[in-house]
Amino acid sequence: MSSAGRFAPSPSGELHVGNLRTAMLAWLFARSTGRRFLLRVEDLDRARAGAEAKQLRDLAAIGVSWDGAVVRQTDREPLYTAAIALLASSGLTYECFCTRREIQEAPSAPHAPQGAYPGTCRKLSTAEREFKRSVRPAAIRLRSSVTEWSVEDALHGTFTGVVDDFVLRRNDGVTAYNLAVVVDDAEQGIDQVVRGDDLLPSTPRQAYLASLLNIPAPEYAHVPLVLNADGARLAKRDGAVTLADLSAAGIPPDAVCRIILESLNLPAASLAGALPEFDPAALPREPWVWQGE
Ligand code: GLU
Repeated sequence: MSSAGRFAPSPSGELHVGNLRTAMLAWLFARSTGRRFLLRVEDLDRARAGAEAKQLRDLAAIGVSWDGAVVRQTDREPLYTAAIALLASSGLTYECFCTRREIQEAPSAPHAPQGAYPGTCRKLSTAEREFKRSVRPAAIRLRSSVTEWSVEDALHGTFTGVVDDFVLRRNDGVTAYNLAVVVDDAEQGIDQVVRGDDLLPSTPRQAYLASLLNIPAPEYAHVPLVLNADGARLAKRDGAVTLADLSAAGIPPDAVCRIILESLNLPAASLAGALPEFDPAALPREPWVWQGE
């Protein structure tokens, strides 16, 4: 399979200029390296009716084109189940019955990084496990044998972050993002992951999991976020931030596209027009502050 990049939005609402900018960057990274560009709807968790159609419409309106059919995570449960079964067959998973509160209140394990799962359910006896199973459904955790892992990122260099016994499947049966993203990227032939740098801290977990599944880690580029005038991450409540809002305010999608390209030091009339000038090394490394229109 030829190599590919991707954009993987959660259909939780309309995309705002920050999401659109990340999508444009992912497209530029992929197309400038001759990759296919795939779109995956990450609807395992935060799906809102009608959001996907609006997201696809808005991506097309700013020139983000994609190859092949859109993939939806809710159609791919068997792939996730197979990956968890593979890990389980090597003894790399265990059932966890902890509530969020129990995890917060548990003393952290010696030398464990802050925020890491304390390992309460790692060593349950068969009898303890049987009893807990009768009380509440289990989540599935990874039995990790490292506490940190390093990844290479095109914009951040070597990044080392925490790896704990993170959840692969929640106790409500929903596959966890960290497992789904690794399985999907591998299965779709994605070898370049461009996304917002708020996701950089989870990347070592994903790369470690990929290594356990014998999947080569993709190339990563975690791009700066867009902030509001107060320096917080841009959100829907920050006024006119979606294409629909901006169109209503007299700024059509092609103009929004040009404003975003300017913020990337890529003055061009369209996304495709910016491709010849695109150079990852010349990208601004600071967040872009959206002042409002
Ligand atoms: N679905 C995630 C989000 O919208 C992105 C995941 C990813 O790009 O790996 O925040």
